[in-house]
Amino acid sequence: MGCNNMSAKILEGKVFAAQIKESVKAEVEKLINVHGITPGLVVIIVGENPASKVYVANKHKACAEVGIYSEVVQMPETITKEQLLAQVMALNKDLAIDGILLQLPLPDHLKQYETEFLNAISPDKDVDGFHPVNVGKLTIGQEHLVPCTPYGCIKMLELANIDIAGKHAVIVGRSNIVGKPMANLLLARNATVTICHSRTTDLPSITRQADILIVAIGKPKFVTKDMVKPGAVVIDVGINRTSDKKLVGDVDFEQVKEVASAITPVPGGVGLLTIAMLLSNTVKAVKLKNNIK
Ligand code: NAP
Repeated sequence: MGCNNMSAKILEGKVFAAQIKESVKAEVEKLINVHGITPGLVVIIVGENPASKVYVANKHKACAEVGIYSEVVQMPETITKEQLLAQVMALNKDLAIDGILLQLPLPDHLKQYETEFLNAISPDKDVDGFHPVNVGKLTIGQEHLVPCTPYGCIKMLELANIDIAGKHAVIVGRSNIVGKPMANLLLARNATVTICHSRTTDLPSITRQADILIVAIGKPKFVTKDMVKPGAVVIDVGINRTSDKKLVGDVDFEQVKEVASAITPVPGGVGLLTIAMLLSNTVKAVKLKNNIK
């Protein structure tokens, strides 16, 4: 970090995702060979959302790659609230299953109960890290199962040997799945953290102070060169589709890579770490349950 007029190091998600998957695979082998436990993950999908089906298939494939047993529970679009809750409860009791993930979005008639479904998943099997118990633990510095996307960002910084302690980390976005857990993870690693959102006054004056800038707002190419301090590390969580069907992030990559010291591309950045962290969380769930270090 530090000098002007540079071209940033590109933080390639596939490189870090491969490293994480390798270590998960080794841990799975150890769990099977030493402890006789095969980690198991279930993904519940309701209805026929094509994008969700692709995500679920990718998760299933990734599990197979590292030796995690995985099951997809496909439920019909017309399922009732009670039937879905009963399915979650049955999986909570299933000893062969260590992780449960409810693929979102849900069909319209179930959307209003989303929080209820997520809260019904046992906190010990909550590999998405969305249960209030896990959110609370993260907040008080007892990381248990942590949301995969912000956890992936942290792993990427760690694997890239980017120091966090003492740095000013600015997060743009305060959602429960990215911004807020990101802030707690960075705080626990001794960054000085600022969280910005849509009501922040003079956002550029704050983003320009960031040593580490993390953007998760869902606005294509929103962060421009003038909003970034030379030498900053820029992590772009955004995934947006442009009118010509291209995927772009929340950061104007071409501009910002000229001032940042390191930057994640979209596609090919943080997104690839999310599934890797889901695998990692499934192994973590097994280890926590069985008190294995
Ligand atoms: P979200 O729930 O819609 O939250 C967006 C956040 O951005 C809100 O806190 C909002 O502020 C803030 N925001 C919106 N416009 C802003 C502006 N002009 N200036 C400053 N802040 C602004 O979004 P999310 O679920 O966190 O997702 C954010 C992006 O990350 C999306 O593009 C999503 O697709 C992507 N994402 C990627 C992954 C992955 O695997 N890579 C995972 C999850 C999400 P308010 O709170 O004030 O409304």
